[in-house]
Amino acid sequence: MPSLSAIRSSLAPALVKVRAHTGPMTEELVRHPADHGLGLPQLPGRIKPASTVKSVCGFCATGCSLDIHLDADGRALNLSADPAYPVNLGMACPKGWEALTPLAATDRATTPLLRDPATGRLAPVSWPVALDTFTTRFKAIQAAHGDHSIAFLSTGQIPTEEMAFVGALFKFGMGGLHCDSNTRQCMATAHVAYKQSFGFDAPPYTYQDFEESDVLVFVGSNPAIAHPIMWQRVQMNKNTPEIIVLDPRRTETAMCATRHIALNPKSDLTLLYAIAHVLHHEGWIKRDYIDAHTSGYDDFAAFLKPYAPLAAEAVTGVSAETIRHLAEIIARGKAVSFWWTMGVNQGYESTRTAQALINLALMTGNLGRPGTGANSITGQCNAMGSRLYANATSLFGGRDFANPTHRTEIADILGIAPAHIPSESSLAYDQIIDAIDAGKIKGLWVIATNTAHSWINSSRFAALRDKLDFLIVQDMYATTETALMADLVLPAAGWGEKEGFFINSERRLGAIHKVARAPGQALSDFKIFQLIAQAWGCADRFAKWTSPAAAFQLIKEFSRGRPCDITGIRDHAHLTASGGIQWPHPDTATAEPARERRLFADGKFFTPDQRARFLFDSPRPNPEPACADYPFVLNTGRGSSAQWHTGSRTNKSDVLRKLAPRSLYVEINPADAARLGLVFNDRALISSRRGQLEANVVITATVRPGHVFMPMHFDAVNRLTHPSYDPHSRQPNYKSCAVQINHGD
Ligand code: SF4
Repeated sequence: MPSLSAIRSSLAPALVKVRAHTGPMTEELVRHPADHGLGLPQLPGRIKPASTVKSVCGFCATGCSLDIHLDADGRALNLSADPAYPVNLGMACPKGWEALTPLAATDRATTPLLRDPATGRLAPVSWPVALDTFTTRFKAIQAAHGDHSIAFLSTGQIPTEEMAFVGALFKFGMGGLHCDSNTRQCMATAHVAYKQSFGFDAPPYTYQDFEESDVLVFVGSNPAIAHPIMWQRVQMNKNTPEIIVLDPRRTETAMCATRHIALNPKSDLTLLYAIAHVLHHEGWIKRDYIDAHTSGYDDFAAFLKPYAPLAAEAVTGVSAETIRHLAEIIARGKAVSFWWTMGVNQGYESTRTAQALINLALMTGNLGRPGTGANSITGQCNAMGSRLYANATSLFGGRDFANPTHRTEIADILGIAPAHIPSESSLAYDQIIDAIDAGKIKGLWVIATNTAHSWINSSRFAALRDKLDFLIVQDMYATTETALMADLVLPAAGWGEKEGFFINSERRLGAIHKVARAPGQALSDFKIFQLIAQAWGCADRFAKWTSPAAAFQLIKEFSRGRPCDITGIRDHAHLTASGGIQWPHPDTATAEPARERRLFADGKFFTPDQRARFLFDSPRPNPEPACADYPFVLNTGRGSSAQWHTGSRTNKSDVLRKLAPRSLYVEINPADAARLGLVFNDRALISSRRGQLEANVVITATVRPGHVFMPMHFDAVNRLTHPSYDPHSRQPNYKSCAVQINHGD
């Protein structure tokens, strides 16, 4: 196994190479090493492209634009990073460079597969048989157990048109109610935090803010690995900024920061309140801004009384002097931006932690100006699309299922009876799992996600498989951990094989385009939803959903008059020609939108009184702290910039596999390793109250004594994680559970 430092250093040249290529294509650069197999042509050597199409990357929510170079038949030869796009400015990370390779994987699902009861194996069937089985089995479950006994779990990885279509089909056509997506694991906290504080799920920033701050505060965020192009934008900041990283681990970002605060795990809420305490008591606040644009500050100030720096020392492990100094840096900053990612979102008190950052921005007047903001960095390429248009827990466009006016608005747009729209919201992901356990949900449809690997306390999901009467998996690959459990597999086209749009972290809509043919009988998810509507017998309610282009026009209407209004965007071609467009862009706009826009410059928020709210709660006890039996705190997260989530795509690339360890590893502090008698590459047995696994030992001082870290890209890791959830967002707590470590075999 290569060492972590070798891996990390190997990533830097990859980025440099990408950044260097901002000029015209050369013959050398158009040759792609992985063009082979299904859907993509074999390249005889150096081939000049016949044309180029711009498409937004389908991995992370940075939303880089890639130039896809095509042959004369319109098929992708290779790609390069778009030098003109305002997001990535000619850069791409290793995943972006390898974006075409997973399409050519040999384990693509190329035909529907149905489990044969005689052999117990998945066997190929035709699409008509698959669709008939889908409807027959799901309708039988509904007849036996009620309409709400079927559910789906979807993704932040498919285009907005597709996630909107399946949300409409399931709830307005199939009579279903309970559905959620893997954005629950990723961005539910940011969604709820913004909605409660600002009145709408509205990340306020633009990526230019990375370059314009003079103080950047990253909390539970490691963009150097998880969002490398955003980190490159930080590197372009000419203000010699103060970069503060709050993270228990000395991450790659922490190593590059001007200040790394290695606070105790899950003590961030207390630390942020302590910083707010100092700001308030020193008078380092923007009283004019607070009075004009916020509500609840006086209650917040009273609440802060017990969070004096000295009192916070024991909980946070951060000295009172350091806490005061952090507050002073923030107070002195002219343009302070606060950034958070999964270290905040994936916690048991995550919403209030995110809002503690929002509170800091509000009380110091750091919103709506260049270089400022309380800014959540999104995970998946279309998590923001899912938050606004998945039609799962909120009705299209951030509406409320319980609101009859909202239901009528959507029914009118779709030309269906309002009675077809449910008046209650869906169960959240964890509650759907509980309902399976309770025997209330008997049919599950998993779309472009890999629950068996990624869901917290994963052994439980595996055990629940037998409680389902029928499991359908719709995916590019028939080999994911979840697809291998399925009764029926529907083969789906992937990114690059279909049309649509994503919304990135900074609210920018970007179009994706078809540059390769899906293999075998695989179909776009959009086409599969159309076929299911026909097979189910409800196609008449979806007559307007004729294509992704038509669905885009419907989504525009869903947005009309909402904070996320995009009625001024004509079509996908408008997005591509414009370099992406940030919402809002209503059709009342008199000019093309600027390339970079932020929200709340006028201090008006989306709450009824147009004021942002200070929201806060006392910190809650850690549901599973370290103890005598389980003395280590396990943190999980991104392993490298070459890996993506469960690896179903990135593991298909030889290039990406070489940039990351192939075997599961655990990072442990040198003092702990010495005490346990472990040396580098020993096998360690890691156990929690829920399961155990073996991993190679990596000894590194990046984790503190008593802490260990493991990458989330290996399926065994979630056998250990603790099934606890934030009460507001119901996002799982992947960042802290108690484990013990022993010698493995
Ligand atoms: Fe950009 Fe993210 Fe794609 Fe990398 S994975 S190229 S950072 S969008």
